[in-house]
Amino acid sequence: MAERIQRVMVVTAHPDDSEFGADGTVAKLVKEGKQVTYCILTNGDKGSGDRSMTPERLVAIREDEQRNAARVLGVEVVDFLGFPDCELEDTRESRRAVTAAIRRHRPDLLIAQNPNRTKNLGAWHRDHRTAGGIAIDCVYPLARDHMAFPELAAQGLEPHKVREVYLMWWEKPEVVVDISDTIDLKIKALACHASQFKDFAAVEARVRERGAELGKLGGHAYAETFDLISMDR
Ligand SMILES: [Zn+2]
Repeated sequence: MAERIQRVMVVTAHPDDSEFGADGTVAKLVKEGKQVTYCILTNGDKGSGDRSMTPERLVAIREDEQRNAARVLGVEVVDFLGFPDCELEDTRESRRAVTAAIRRHRPDLLIAQNPNRTKNLGAWHRDHRTAGGIAIDCVYPLARDHMAFPELAAQGLEPHKVREVYLMWWEKPEVVVDISDTIDLKIKALACHASQFKDFAAVEARVRERGAELGKLGGHAYAETFDLISMDR
């Protein structure tokens, strides 16, 4: 990763999204000395098939799981924005919360989910698309313009210009990141989200298979792939 990228922020809808979509890349960036922050929009309070589970208990479990995953990867800060799971909306409130996070952590590179629907509904949950749309709108123009959310500048959150955006994407991706050296860390971080998996061995097999498939695009054993938006172009 280029020298001009020093700080990275990953914006996702749910705890575990980053592990599935970008954590091989995150682990690689941390190894390169980049400072990575997570910003998670919803609290994941609907993500359980256990009828005895309560939303409050689930939120606490999922925050713990996400912090553990972050620790595995060397991600030091996790911001939980706390919007309700499955009900994420693109509103002034959600855009302001993400804009505030961008201005606070000042990333050069922002990694987000893709706002476009694909045929893979499992991967492209409504919250994922909504989170992706919010993230992009906050990069440009909301985080950059001092007139946007004037109350933030009044709190000391000055405007910030993100240089690049990676959107998680698999169909003809522009960026293929070799994660052959970090796939094991990706799996280890993913395994922290134990509340989400009945059969982790099957999940691991699927993630490795997918990573190997994407790896073929760049001649790597394993890869993660993204669309690229360069704000310097
Ligand atoms: Zn998700």
